[in-house]
Amino acid sequence: MQKPTQATLDKIISLCKRKGFVFQTAEIYGGLNGVYDFGHLGFLLRENIKRAWRNSIENDLGEIYTLEGSLLGTQRMWEASGHIDNFHDPMVDCKNCKKRFRTDDGSIDLNKNCPDCGIKNWTEVRNFNLMFKTELGAVADGTAHAYLRPETAQTIFINFKNMMTTNRAKMPFGVAQIGKSFRNEITPKQFLFRLREFEQMELEWFCSQESAMENFEFWLAKRREFYRSLGLNMDRIRFHAHGKEELAHYSVCCTDIEYEFPFGFKELEGIAHRGTFDLTQHSKFSGKDLAVFDEATKTSHTPVVVETSVGVDRLFLTLLFDAYYEDEMDGETRVVLKFAPHIAPIKLAIFPLTKKLEEPALALFKTIKKTVPNIQFDVTGSIGKRYRRQDEIGTPFCITYDFDTEHDNCVTIRDRDSGKQDRIAITDIMSYLTEHGVINS
Ligand code: ATP
Repeated sequence: MQKPTQATLDKIISLCKRKGFVFQTAEIYGGLNGVYDFGHLGFLLRENIKRAWRNSIENDLGEIYTLEGSLLGTQRMWEASGHIDNFHDPMVDCKNCKKRFRTDDGSIDLNKNCPDCGIKNWTEVRNFNLMFKTELGAVADGTAHAYLRPETAQTIFINFKNMMTTNRAKMPFGVAQIGKSFRNEITPKQFLFRLREFEQMELEWFCSQESAMENFEFWLAKRREFYRSLGLNMDRIRFHAHGKEELAHYSVCCTDIEYEFPFGFKELEGIAHRGTFDLTQHSKFSGKDLAVFDEATKTSHTPVVVETSVGVDRLFLTLLFDAYYEDEMDGETRVVLKFAPHIAPIKLAIFPLTKKLEEPALALFKTIKKTVPNIQFDVTGSIGKRYRRQDEIGTPFCITYDFDTEHDNCVTIRDRDSGKQDRIAITDIMSYLTEHGVINS
């Protein structure tokens, strides 16, 4: 039975700030709601997440090609995708305190008073489009509207023909993209869970109508494997298949992968069989034929799309919640992030036992750093304190260089999760790290 998490949103937010994972953007100016900056450890963690995702979509069915699409898109493309007409959330304003609420997420009850000011004086419920709109160029006459993309997927669909022909792609194949998306969320909340500026990792998989269901099932299984490989507690993950009434009008079927956050089970990733909707719409609105000619049958057909889509930030938050533990070690309570070694931002820390050993320990640090760049050197405070510092940021191993090292060329390597210490030869450090999944993973 899984132990309940000790992590709370407040503890995660405080750890992220204290250790430099995440900062509120423009904090010195009072911040910007739903937008964050990532410090050194945050940047490294994001890189590891993205690398793991990119590796996880390699497969035996077909090739994956990558795209980096633009953030700004034309009005016409968002009309075709349905975002101008349909990408909105219902909202209501409190006429008294002017606070705005979403009405479909259970955060307010319109029969009751405003949770902020305690007075009941609501406007009508109306739809609020979540796209950020802007004007291109100097003339703001309404002829050159553009939109910041609310998802990366559409830049893949509009480049479908380009990607297929330039890569001489054979179906089935996928186009993957990692990039920023923007949504003017009515109420950004739960830290990195619901942001206005965030990053997505999306795969659009193009396949034939006949193989679509099989391919959908294939990706469901692959995605489960991904979360397992990240070392997540799989009993905090569940798959929620959408009922007919939950499906978007173009979706044939859709399953959300949900994680059990302290604030409940919430969507982490969506996997959808989108039929031929996207390419058909862009064909219709652009006047360009996006069908594929099949040499074998001498017929044209529009490929079906299976999509997998997950937010980097939401997964970042998930990994923090999942890895966070408070336990006892060496008679002290500690906060520890039990990241899988390939996800941990810092892979190894090296300590000289005392200041006297700083020079040879630093030389060892510099040698290892050439192969494993993200490691730290720490000489201040007791060894116990130095362990605690590394535990808190999830460093899987710490090496201590002591007085015996001078004679036996061995160091002590300590495991973050068990506290177990091994005495190993300096010449075996690399193979030890490889064996324990720290490098080449
Ligand atoms: P939700 O119902 O939580 O708003 P959604 O169904 O609108 O999500 P999708 O459009 O399917 O989300 O986006 C795919 C993924 O992108 C989500 O599963 C999530 O991981 C991420 N994502 C979407 N919106 C946000 C956001 N505002 N902030 C952070 N991540 C987001």
